[in-house]
Amino acid sequence: MEVDLGAVVRNAEALSRHARAPLIPMVKADAYGLGAVPVARALDRLDPYAFGVSSIAEGEELRAAGIARPILCFTPVRVDDLPQLRAAGMTPTLSTAETITAWTHEGGAWHLAIDTGMHRAGVNWNQLDGLRATLSAHPPTGVFTHFHSAEADDGSMERQEERFRAALARLPERPTFVHAENSAGIVRRGPSAWDAVRPGVFLYGVGSGAGAALQPEPVAALHARVLELREVAPGESVSYGATWRARTTRRIATVACGYADGVRRALGNAATALCQGQPVPIVGVVTMDMAMLDVTDVACALGDTITFLGRNGAALRTVEAVATGAGISPYELLTGLRLRLPRLHRGG
Ligand SMILES: *Cc1c(COP(=O)(O)O)cnc(C)c1O
Repeated sequence: MEVDLGAVVRNAEALSRHARAPLIPMVKADAYGLGAVPVARALDRLDPYAFGVSSIAEGEELRAAGIARPILCFTPVRVDDLPQLRAAGMTPTLSTAETITAWTHEGGAWHLAIDTGMHRAGVNWNQLDGLRATLSAHPPTGVFTHFHSAEADDGSMERQEERFRAALARLPERPTFVHAENSAGIVRRGPSAWDAVRPGVFLYGVGSGAGAALQPEPVAALHARVLELREVAPGESVSYGATWRARTTRRIATVACGYADGVRRALGNAATALCQGQPVPIVGVVTMDMAMLDVTDVACALGDTITFLGRNGAALRTVEAVATGAGISPYELLTGLRLRLPRLHRGG
């Protein structure tokens, strides 16, 4: 697996220019599978407001690597977790009187999570009055909400923004840092009305569709070398369950890359990879450690590169295309590429 850190940085710069706001790059889930430490180190030079993670362990990993910026933890934490979070010098996102009181007892920055329709985490936008006394005594450093469908032109983002504004108006005072947009929200909105934006997937090369105002550079590539080549006679099958059969004599290439490496099982008999800049069908079921390709129609030799994701010659397999072939979301595809693959980070 190759990760182009130069492309991550250029995608981040493009977003920050488009939003005219500082970034809170989301590096949760090991930077969507691409490596949180190298990604955070590369983005640190853009002077982001903070990094976003989803667990204390992820924050601790960044601290151990020398990342000194604020690190926001975007999943709810229990009162019992707060000492560990504080020890890591992290900033929690809170929304209950119990956790806010426990955290502010010893001081420290925190952000208030407001639920405007995602219904996952945060205090409901129209139930802030229950927190008023707590918030007056312990004002948050920042406040934010999260959009559930920023990539869809369905009016939901506008509805959530209205609720967010109504909630902000009911706070005892306006916090220093207000933030809302994820990648799709940034691309859709352009200049942000708030103080920072929280991109994730766009940094890692996934845009919000062909018509979008801003397109990311590809970031991740997954290549494997052809280790064996064989001729398969008509009527013979390939892989477990014999789900694919040769109708004529076919040349089959084997690579040591399977579903335990993130090459999804569903790609078998459903998608193509690239060889010599040409599409080659993935035939039979992808196995745990190996996958087979029908390379009959290309000049494929032992040692050649098969590309499941990224560039091969003039051809490109995007995350979106591969995810569609596997019937999953681009987010799931990226976060699945991390079990066993050696990762080469370039351009850091
Ligand atoms: C993951 C996440 C983001 C980033 O979302 P993308 O769609 O990847 O840009 C932003 N904010 C929160 C709270 C998140 O959990």
